[in-house]
Amino acid sequence: MTYDYETAAKNYESAMIDDLSALIRIDSERDTAHATKDEPLGPGPAEGLRHALAMAERDGFTTKNVENVAGRIEIGSGDDILGVLSHVDVVPAGEGWDTDAFEPVLKDGKIYGRGSADDKGPLIAAYYALRILRDLKVPLNKRVHLILGSDEESEWYGMDRYLATQETPTLGFSPDAEFPIINGEKGIASFLVSQNRVAAKPAAYTLTSFTGGIRPNMVPVSATAIISGALPADFAAKLQAFAKANGVTADLSTDGSQNTIVLHGRGAHASTPEIGINAGTYLAAFLDESGLDLDPAGKQYVASITKLLHQDTTGVKTGINYIDKKMGALSATGDIFNFSQDGDQTILINVRYPQGTDAASIRDQYETAFGVDAYTVTIDGHAQEPHYVAMDDPLVQTLLQVYTDHTGLEGHEVIVGGGTYGRMLERGVAFGAQMPGAPDVMHLPNEFIKVEDIVRAAAIYADAIARLAND
Ligand code: ZN
Ligand code: ZN
Repeated sequence: MTYDYETAAKNYESAMIDDLSALIRIDSERDTAHATKDEPLGPGPAEGLRHALAMAERDGFTTKNVENVAGRIEIGSGDDILGVLSHVDVVPAGEGWDTDAFEPVLKDGKIYGRGSADDKGPLIAAYYALRILRDLKVPLNKRVHLILGSDEESEWYGMDRYLATQETPTLGFSPDAEFPIINGEKGIASFLVSQNRVAAKPAAYTLTSFTGGIRPNMVPVSATAIISGALPADFAAKLQAFAKANGVTADLSTDGSQNTIVLHGRGAHASTPEIGINAGTYLAAFLDESGLDLDPAGKQYVASITKLLHQDTTGVKTGINYIDKKMGALSATGDIFNFSQDGDQTILINVRYPQGTDAASIRDQYETAFGVDAYTVTIDGHAQEPHYVAMDDPLVQTLLQVYTDHTGLEGHEVIVGGGTYGRMLERGVAFGAQMPGAPDVMHLPNEFIKVEDIVRAAAIYADAIARLAND
């Protein structure tokens, strides 16, 4: 029996747009500053989760809310569980939007809004796949659990709680990346580089503060330095010359003896730092080469960033660089800069590493490169090991066949630096919903998803679930 998944998905187009729009309107950024016992990740993620589950209940599905941090929508029956793992939370809106990030805009066949592509649009496509399978009465010989996490963009606490309290799927995929498939994901770890106390010495200028970046998984769009002392007359001109030469923009404002420099680069996801322009390292490099006689702590901080991190996204300057034949090269990016004259003086570096190296040895090498006397380096949180599902696994074979059947395009292996929920299952991969070659808009301003891509993804997911639940 063959089913017309395409037509079924097309019939749901306007319903999918409506449901996605409602979900985008919920700012579901993790917000533990407003956490309560009932909503440990804050009100936004909990509301996003409850909203998605209520949508499924509206349509008659059985759901489960796990402690307001994760949940699932169910269909099918059998011993094994096929998991479809998505998430309702989003990264912060950030700067640079042409429209309100949380007010969806439908324009030229695209829906704009934070979370449209990551991961609310793909979640809606996966959800409508369940509706299509039910409408068409497709037999499913496994239980299918559409699982929703609510802090995929940070700690994965929600999914950890889910797996600790609920049955683990036998196999599954995460609709949170691109087609044809992601069957390998590099290891992910963040390293906190803390500058040890530097003895103060009189200097003409003091770096009062240096900040940049808001998330460990985003290359900083902007960075700000505050310097006290009367600046030389040619300083502003030097700053503009530097900005022009480096393709960044910079502003200088002076209030008494307090000078504020704001530098704008280009943001990027931490798994592809090479497409960003790291505002933090560019600002440090400017200060380092400006010739200002900075205080010792400030001087050392900007010099270390310049020498060890600037214009290097593969870790060559610190010696952590590594290439694995199958999984490719390690990447590294300084994503949060936090320096205050009398407080913390830190750099948070996010690293994506292939099999063959590990977080402990990267930490050791960082400390050697930064200097054990000057800096202390720790692994921030827990490192996620590299993850790989072989091409000959039936899960990978089936998904690639479904992809080819619906697109006419050849499938192939893809290994990335990004981390998806796919890695939470031993037999887990990421599958869609972006088409190959589409601009990667996740985490960026003016994030969007094409309506036709949501519709196609719903059809692909329905077919994929049907085949995986019956093999
Ligand atoms: Zn995502
Ligand atoms: Zn994301």
